[in-house]
Amino acid sequence: MAAAPVGILGGTFDPIHFGHLRLAQELAQTLRLAAVRFVPSGTPPHRATPHACAAHRAAMARLAVAGNSLFTVDERELARGGPAYTFDTLTEVRAEAGPAAPLVLMLGADAFLDFAAWHRWREIFGLAHIAVAHRPGFPVERWGESMPQPLAREYGARLMHQPLAVHLAPAGGIVVIPFTALGISATAIRELVRAGASPRYLLPDPVLDYIREASLYSGGR
Ligand code: ATP
Repeated sequence: MAAAPVGILGGTFDPIHFGHLRLAQELAQTLRLAAVRFVPSGTPPHRATPHACAAHRAAMARLAVAGNSLFTVDERELARGGPAYTFDTLTEVRAEAGPAAPLVLMLGADAFLDFAAWHRWREIFGLAHIAVAHRPGFPVERWGESMPQPLAREYGARLMHQPLAVHLAPAGGIVVIPFTALGISATAIRELVRAGASPRYLLPDPVLDYIREASLYSGGR
């Protein structure tokens, strides 16, 4: 059998919070991953411009993963400049890992339901498995209605009911992982900060200290 799979969690991490960290931890355990790479996006193609600059978002991600030997921050998208596509990132990671290494792209349910809008999304199945984590507000029983037809077809064809099947092939499967419901979002954290309220216990203390010291999210945006 090939080495244990590596998980990749992309995001704006604006800021990183316990929803991201717990997702990585639980999926790493359930899927027996060798490591999880957090990949902060540079200029995300699918969504509004981030509020904190790339250097701040990466610094917060580094603070958040410190002390967990499974977790690292991969800053390749920040260095790239211009639009950062997950397809390009995974192409690079695949070239480094070699053709046989299982890779797992980790997504919350909201991100997965939007997946068919991603650049070269079908080809991503040739580069990695996809692990979808439940997220409050995106209930599994309503995914059918929310999923565009082309994605629903891939989902039907690729769904694997045994999560550890991600060890058996380098890419191409979809697993859905029940995950502790954490109704935490970066949007809500930014709104709390802007309103002068504390987001403490929604994200690691060192990240909160960083937000305060750099005066992030409190301005007019
Ligand atoms: P924003 O509120 O700014 O949209 P976010 O909290 O959704 O941000 P992202 O950086 O966009 O954070 O998320 C990165 C990945 O983590 C996405 O795949 C997203 O679905 C997932 N994710 C974030 N928060 C949660 C959560 N609370 N539960 C499950 N998945 C989550």
